[in-house]
Amino acid sequence: MTSRASEAVQMQVTAMLDLLERDRPGMLDRLRTDALAELQTWPEVRVHLVTEALPTAEGCSVAGSYGDEEQPPALCVVRSASTRRRQFTVLHELGHHLQRTDLDLGTAVVLADGDRFEDDACDLFAARVLLPDSLVASCFDDRTPIPGDIVALYRKSSASRAACMVRAAEHLSSFGAVVLYDAAGVVSFAAARGSVYPPARGSDQSQTALVAAALRDPSRADGMPFTVDDTRIRYRSGHASGPLYGQATWCDGYLVAVLVEHHAPWRTFSPPRDIIPSRQPQWAECQVCVNSYEVTDICGTCGEPRCPSGHCECSLRRERHCERCKLTYGPAMFPGNGAICRDCL
Ligand SMILES: [Zn+2]
Ligand SMILES: [Zn+2]
Ligand SMILES: [Zn+2]
Ligand SMILES: [Zn+2]
Repeated sequence: MTSRASEAVQMQVTAMLDLLERDRPGMLDRLRTDALAELQTWPEVRVHLVTEALPTAEGCSVAGSYGDEEQPPALCVVRSASTRRRQFTVLHELGHHLQRTDLDLGTAVVLADGDRFEDDACDLFAARVLLPDSLVASCFDDRTPIPGDIVALYRKSSASRAACMVRAAEHLSSFGAVVLYDAAGVVSFAAARGSVYPPARGSDQSQTALVAAALRDPSRADGMPFTVDDTRIRYRSGHASGPLYGQATWCDGYLVAVLVEHHAPWRTFSPPRDIIPSRQPQWAECQVCVNSYEVTDICGTCGEPRCPSGHCECSLRRERHCERCKLTYGPAMFPGNGAICRDCL
């Protein structure tokens, strides 16, 4: 996700909120109060509480999935998650529903560069519904938040930690990531800005400098920071990010971290660093473009290399050929999950 793409995501989310407000005035307040209860009354979707999230083609960044193979489409939410987390997840899945059923939103998904656009829009949509701008402004003060600010936002709201992380990532003034780890240092949720790719959900970061420091002191009070000037993100491919300034704090048994390339708000001086590549360049072959390319990017969702056109394992699972025109499109171009694209119907 580049900063330009993240502006596109913001525009998409504004359009999603406007669409809801236009079609169902007052709905945003009802969703903020109890989205699970509200969506259970909608005839156009079915809310399923499931034991375990099925691995979906979309690779949702949350513990849930959206299924439009059945009618009405299903918003699946993992039952074992906390109440706050279930609310965030069902709103994320509603985000998919809006983008798959509204023509303009669906077109924006198809035209977007990068696989993460639709899912990023779902995360930001859910976070914006749960955390209104005024509350976020009162905690972040219009600057890059430190982990303590994110804990304050969590305490003042009834939104999940994940929702707070998304709003924090939105307020990063330099490229970086905001990551939520469980008590063992495994990623529970991550959001990023700019050229930094977030670590994959479920990936073990306990050996990275910042997380290791926090794990050595699990009883430090919530809000009391751990600070490391050179920490990294580990990707499933075995690669690591460049050096990042990091700060973390415990929050009810979870670890909340802010990782930035430069201009860390907790330091008076944190300049950009020259990144010396630590490995030989690696080459990979893109299965979509059928070209080889030098690996410079790793997808945060599948953890596999991403080609210069933005393809990774996720694209292979998502893109399909239309049976009539033979062109390749994302799923939003196939109404009713059919085999013929929207242009040919
Ligand atoms: Zn998703
Ligand atoms: Zn490609
Ligand atoms: Zn991917
Ligand atoms: Zn077609």
